[in-house]
Amino acid sequence: MKALRWYAARDLRWEEVPEPPGPRPHEAVVEVAWCGVCGTDLHEFTEGPHMIREGPHPLTGAAPPLALGHELSGTVVALGAEVPGIAVGDRVAADPCWRCGVCFWCVRGEYHLCPRGGSVGLASPGAFAEFVTVPLAGLVRLPDQVGDEAAALAEPLAVGLHAVSRAGIRPGDNVLVVGGGPIGVAVVLAARLAGAAGLYVSEPLAARRALLRDFGVTEAFDPGESDVRREVFVRTGRVGPDVVIDATGVPRLAAQAVATVRRGGRVVLAGVGHGSVEFDLGQLVFYERSVLGTLGYHHDIPRVIDLMSTGRLDATPLVTGRYSLSDGAGVFESLATDRASHLKVLLTPKDL
Ligand SMILES: [Zn+2]
Ligand SMILES: [Zn+2]
Repeated sequence: MKALRWYAARDLRWEEVPEPPGPRPHEAVVEVAWCGVCGTDLHEFTEGPHMIREGPHPLTGAAPPLALGHELSGTVVALGAEVPGIAVGDRVAADPCWRCGVCFWCVRGEYHLCPRGGSVGLASPGAFAEFVTVPLAGLVRLPDQVGDEAAALAEPLAVGLHAVSRAGIRPGDNVLVVGGGPIGVAVVLAARLAGAAGLYVSEPLAARRALLRDFGVTEAFDPGESDVRREVFVRTGRVGPDVVIDATGVPRLAAQAVATVRRGGRVVLAGVGHGSVEFDLGQLVFYERSVLGTLGYHHDIPRVIDLMSTGRLDATPLVTGRYSLSDGAGVFESLATDRASHLKVLLTPKDL
């Protein structure tokens, strides 16, 4: 089969590779329909290896070169064991988290925190290929109402659902989302479904602010032009937002989120970031503010598919480009140089 394999930063090759072997009992093989390009993939492309290990992964044993890609939809071609409700030939989405299944976290169902865990497309060959091996436990059968393209968006949208449940957003809450990239949009859609009354976004790019307005945000601010903290404070009866979700991972903005959330409010950090943040302890203690991290999702992809199938969630406007995997290396190159004009790009092994 053909796959777009990562060899090193700035080195992706569309080449002939062996098809995945027959699945082991905890695996399934899927023929890929679509796979989205994630910020993580771009990061591996521009300055990796970051999440990719240079040696064999402790759980899967896989090592580079390997295909990236974990936001996938496709058709089941082989099952390692029987799964109730899923058969060969079914269209599926897939939760790409590998898990050991026996550690403290896996046993509690928090498999996304498994110390030996990893993702398809980073810890094992990914879905920028004609066929991909995925965790059997992660298969989600697609109803007829959910197309293959929409299903490839389920994984990034699950990140939003998980962040919003971590934040404990309730109907009538006022919410500020910092950053309107793919994670920010996923958070916005999930916060709207959770019943946010005022839904505010801070995002420097005008095109993204326009799209966010289409997705039903109350107001989208340009942080370069307005004092977002002040604007949201005024619009919430001089109280401040109940919840601030940071979708940037920029340390300075995390500190700002703490200063922005109302007394007694919650800050949730959803951006994948590194580095130290400094804030006055009094900002947390005297005002009973909480700060939480959120990582990926667990058990959220089936919920996204249900929301799509009942028409409650349509994220297809997120897609700003569709390309063939055979052009993948060029697509990555242009995404790396001009990230701003794209939100979510989908790739397919088919010739478009
Ligand atoms: Zn992703
Ligand atoms: Zn585990």
